[in-house]
Amino acid sequence: MPLNKASAYIAKQKRRAEECNTMNQEQGVSDRQEDDTSQPIASSAAITQHGEMPQKKFYRQRAHCNPLAHNDSFQYPSSLQDTAWLEEHFPNLPEGQRHPTFLDCGCGFGGLTVALAKLLPEEVILGLEIRLKVKEYVRLRIMALRQENPGQYENCSVLRTNSMKYLPNFFPKASLRKMFFCFPDPHFKRKNHARRIVSLRLLSEYAYLLQPTVGRLYCITDVKELHEWHLRECDAHPLFRNLSVQEMKDDICVETMINETEEAKKVTRSGGDNKRGEKYYQVYERIPDEGAPKIHAGNFFPVTSEEEDANRSTAETDNK
Ligand code: SAM
Repeated sequence: MPLNKASAYIAKQKRRAEECNTMNQEQGVSDRQEDDTSQPIASSAAITQHGEMPQKKFYRQRAHCNPLAHNDSFQYPSSLQDTAWLEEHFPNLPEGQRHPTFLDCGCGFGGLTVALAKLLPEEVILGLEIRLKVKEYVRLRIMALRQENPGQYENCSVLRTNSMKYLPNFFPKASLRKMFFCFPDPHFKRKNHARRIVSLRLLSEYAYLLQPTVGRLYCITDVKELHEWHLRECDAHPLFRNLSVQEMKDDICVETMINETEEAKKVTRSGGDNKRGEKYYQVYERIPDEGAPKIHAGNFFPVTSEEEDANRSTAETDNK
């Protein structure tokens, strides 16, 4: 990079960091709090007036956090009968219609959540986001959209939670029609693969929540290796079937997923991880329990041929 370009870049980064620090001080959010998932939602009144569209630059937050950490203290309903939280999220929907039917898991800045709410006003869409400030941005964005468009966007909201831990505390069995996993954190290192939000283990939980036959699970990423992981994990799960290209074309949500999330737009603009702007995706259907192959430990802990050989030789040695 030429020297003048490099110093301009450094100056820009410094300005950005200062802006963020000032905003954090105004909000009373320290760096430590940013990572501490137990902290209550910070007041953002100092930078965004009530009903005003928030500016993303004030709500940026360090990208990666550990979703498997045991030191979070996210709150969740003590039982599924406790539905008070739904009133807070969907105050203007009739009481019987407040149950989320679509989840945008790891919704980031909420592009897909609000796009789906507009496209499908009869559905109830909930974005789930683990990061405090990012969740706060989406909350303010939805408030502003509701104010600007009376009667619209009442069917969407955002919840700060860890999607990898607490979903069955919020949503009953077979209550969801769609779950979206858009541009999830890739967790490249092998030792961190357990942090991936789509995995064989978690797919059982997602299958429990999705309505058989109707329920669909959507995965999209710009990281080829992660896409291959998604295919491997979902193909291996006995309660999911991958949709054909035509079935995906006929699904109105697929195009929205490809174009409307913030990450999707970034990949279109700047090429993403693969540098070519490719977005790899696949949709899976939750198949009915009756037609599903019998579930046994081998579905979840497939034994490789090397492991089989090793087991056999250990058994032979033990028998001698
Ligand atoms: N889906 C959005 C998009 O396409 O623009 C955001 C993608 S961003 C790369 C991944 C998001 O998932 C981040 O905002 C991150 O904070 C969030 N996230 C990661 N793990 C999560 C978890 N276990 N529960 C909820 N959100 C999570």
